[in-house]
Amino acid sequence: MQKVAVIGAGQMGSGITQVVAQAGIPVLLSDVDLALAEKAKDRIAKALARLVEKEKITAAAADAAVALITPVADYAPMADAELIIEAATEREEIKRRIFESAGKVLAANAIMASNTSSIPITRMAAASPDPARFVGLHFFNPVPVMQLIEVIPGLATSADTVTRMRAFAEMLGKQVVQSEDEAGFVVNRILVPMLNEAAFVLGAGTASVADIDKGCRLGLNHPMGPLQLADFIGLDTCLEICRVLFHSTGDPKYRPAPLLVKYVEAGWLGRKTGRGFYDYAGAEPVPTR
Ligand code: NAD
Repeated sequence: MQKVAVIGAGQMGSGITQVVAQAGIPVLLSDVDLALAEKAKDRIAKALARLVEKEKITAAAADAAVALITPVADYAPMADAELIIEAATEREEIKRRIFESAGKVLAANAIMASNTSSIPITRMAAASPDPARFVGLHFFNPVPVMQLIEVIPGLATSADTVTRMRAFAEMLGKQVVQSEDEAGFVVNRILVPMLNEAAFVLGAGTASVADIDKGCRLGLNHPMGPLQLADFIGLDTCLEICRVLFHSTGDPKYRPAPLLVKYVEAGWLGRKTGRGFYDYAGAEPVPTR
């Protein structure tokens, strides 16, 4: 792979950019403006510096990875990328606009991939220039740590596109699970209803934030509780996934918990905004209920 472009420089776009650069591939990074992409590059440089401190990578490897990242203000420089990965906010209208605009510069044999957590690939492929070269490439958070990538072909995605994305995932040192194009794919279809249920349980006053998470950590042997995990993912992203599951299936079991909706309306989106089910102002997260 000669060059990759990433659109959306939030938690996921930054993580994807980091692992691509660490694999030795030049990567362009964009967001709604250049300043956000530049800030993301600074965050990635700090994350790599922490890996150097922990002696996980050498200083030379960190410098080399940082040097491969180029923040860009628009899509024009992406014309020679072999792969464009969209990792913007989980809203279909935002993503469709990106596929239409970035699609204008997509090179003849290049692939356009979406890191969506739940939105059907076939539906979004219609906004891209060539649905045969459009695919779901679902990374997990934090990208440098998590081993899995879900590859989701849409109805028109070619076998060649899937083969190339499997090879790309392997090159990044990740493992692949392939999913049919159903809302939520495999992992979020199973996980997000549980996170939503935890918000129902909290809203009903059944137990505190700390006890819900402790219960799942100790009772299910999960490494973190569902409310902590929801904060980590981003409550806005969790809510959007619930809504996609609800609207795509029509099944009321996926209706979002009212408390989850309220938190998002309050701007309490989890770790990324400093408050969600926990408050992140101090050294340790503090449960809010
Ligand atoms: P985030 O809120 O951290 O970042 C989203 C970024 O997209 C922001 O920087 C925002 O400015 C940018 N953006 C919004 N509109 C844009 C546009 N038109 N052009 C370019 N950039 C734009 O969210 P995130 O957690 O990084 O999630 C991004 C995507 O990854 C979503 O589709 C989400 O569902 C998916 N995802 C998230 C997780 C997770 O655990 N958070 C895991 C897997 C996949």
